[in-house]
Amino acid sequence: MTNEHPQQARTNAPEPHVPFRVGYQGQPGSFGERAALRAGLPVPYPSFDRLLRALTVGEVDGAVLPAVTRAAGTLVEPLESLARTIGGGASLHVTAEIPVPNRFVLAAPYGTDPEQIREVLSQPPVLRQCRGLLARLKAEVVETADTAAAAQRVASEGGPRAAICSEEAALAAGLALLEEDVSDVRPNVTRFWVLETPDVVARRKEHAAQRSDLEESGLDAGMPIPPPPEPRVVWFAGARRAAVLAEAGAEIISLPGEPDAPIRGFAIVPDKSCSAMAGLSSSGGEPPLLWLGDPPDFVRPPRLHGLPRVTEVRPFSVVQVGLFAVGAGRRAVIAGPCTVESEEQIHRIAKAVARAGATGLRGGIFKPRTSPYAFQGHGIEALRWLKEAGVECGLPVVTEVMAPVQVEPVARQADVLQIGARNCQNYDLLKETAAAGRPVLLKRGFGTTVEEWLSAAEYLMAGGCGDVMLCERGIRTFERATRGTLDIGGILAARSLTHLPILADPSHASGRREWVPGLARASWGAGVDGLIIEVHDRPEEALCDGPQALLPADLETLLDEFGFLPGSSGSVERIRTAIDATDHDIGRLVARRLELCRRVAVAKRDAGWPIRDEEREAAVRRRFATVLAEAAPGASAERLADLLIGLGLEAEGWKGDLTPR
Ligand code: PEP
Ligand code: MN
Repeated sequence: MTNEHPQQARTNAPEPHVPFRVGYQGQPGSFGERAALRAGLPVPYPSFDRLLRALTVGEVDGAVLPAVTRAAGTLVEPLESLARTIGGGASLHVTAEIPVPNRFVLAAPYGTDPEQIREVLSQPPVLRQCRGLLARLKAEVVETADTAAAAQRVASEGGPRAAICSEEAALAAGLALLEEDVSDVRPNVTRFWVLETPDVVARRKEHAAQRSDLEESGLDAGMPIPPPPEPRVVWFAGARRAAVLAEAGAEIISLPGEPDAPIRGFAIVPDKSCSAMAGLSSSGGEPPLLWLGDPPDFVRPPRLHGLPRVTEVRPFSVVQVGLFAVGAGRRAVIAGPCTVESEEQIHRIAKAVARAGATGLRGGIFKPRTSPYAFQGHGIEALRWLKEAGVECGLPVVTEVMAPVQVEPVARQADVLQIGARNCQNYDLLKETAAAGRPVLLKRGFGTTVEEWLSAAEYLMAGGCGDVMLCERGIRTFERATRGTLDIGGILAARSLTHLPILADPSHASGRREWVPGLARASWGAGVDGLIIEVHDRPEEALCDGPQALLPADLETLLDEFGFLPGSSGSVERIRTAIDATDHDIGRLVARRLELCRRVAVAKRDAGWPIRDEEREAAVRRRFATVLAEAAPGASAERLADLLIGLGLEAEGWKGDLTPR
């Protein structure tokens, strides 16, 4: 901390003409008051707990709390009070540190002979830092709440007593100075923390911003004072945390251990150490770190050094195209034929997949075929058909590009460009595609490792494409029973390495429509964000990949099972099928709930518990209110909860009144 701070703290007051009231513990004349004076208008409080309560309820705008002294180290009492306050849920910011030099004097009534002093009064931490003096005096030590109180008591009770206190306190009490600067450590300094509530911090910053606007417009001739950096103070518990903090160069201010937290305290984290704290904030099982201020923005190193963009440690990415969204909990199903065969075919199938509930439409126009004699796709002409079908059904379209020259014309109409498995490592194609300004669906090559696949994605991101979706579509193994081997483990590995959305393609992985649902379920189970599925209504006539195409009805069943909603073109009949599937699920769940109620009745009887439990019933009602908050706000959730509670009580054999309690 620099000594510009006091000036700064005063100019930080929320309103220029309203005094910034700063509470402190102690009496006028104490070091606390001196610290408070440097931040605003001092308001005394008898105890630290009382002071912090006053701050949290807004009785004062700020508070100064002594944290550390050079001579005595950690000041346990005020910091324990702070720990209790934030542990109780109060949010407080440490916005500045004020160093107050404390010179202590030995003061006694006029005429007292230093040799005669029998009692020395002061505050315990002060007594601890004046051991040399106390040893010389050989007097009895009496502890007081603060140093100013010691001076007043000596003044009122008279000699042969002396107080160790500040010079101001001695003079205010009318005492004579027997000896100056009596601390063992000279010069001694107490570091006070300025505490504010987030509300006050926000108000103060707004005011400071208005001031600087004035300054910029030349209306205020005063020199702008750059705000001092706020100390980053954090509350921690646990040995591992303490070790990481210490290693990162933080100043550790430990408090005495407790049975369930033997190592605990505050730490002041220098800015340059913030990135080293990344691992700390994400570790599970330990109590959270409580920042007394805004937590720093961690710049975390990527998970794989060579792939800074793809493996950057950041929240999950969402790729969005209109209503289509995938990633970070948003799920997508892209469905459609392997290839666009005719204008009529793509419109027909587009309607079918939209009705089922697909969120995107696929269809190849350039087909990478193993045999040069196989159908190669209708080319760019078919893109117009695909796009029009997508627009008609409200679905974005996904289509593959195989060569750099195709990228620009395809990107003009397609919503998402697909890089096929065979081109996963075609770097020129990746670079060209990255620059096309469209989201990209990157299939994993059947001979690429997870890292090579992510490296291909890195090419896309490095080339300027922020919207990359990864797709596992089966790799080549010794197995011939399935077309590919869907690498579920690879999906999990990729999931742990990247923030990008991951999709699975159960169609190309299995090669057989019967196995598509199973692989689709396995993929959701492994945590994919979406699926891409081939669908054909006349698979026996398909020009490409007929055997693996799901029938539209199969897609409907599958998407109902996965909880997707039928598309907007869904007929009454289609939506009723989805409702039927939902009722089936609800019926099964209610039956399970009732069976659990029967069992809990037996367990309650064995344990001697009553059947009805008001608190539990209230918790059930609250749960339904939360889960249904958006879908059925108001009384509906409560009615449903009451109905289920009533049915449950009947199942438990309750014969009494069923009115909700
Ligand atoms: C496709 O999706 O049509 C396709 C050819 O897939 P892959 O590149 O995964 O073989
Ligand atoms: Mn295909």
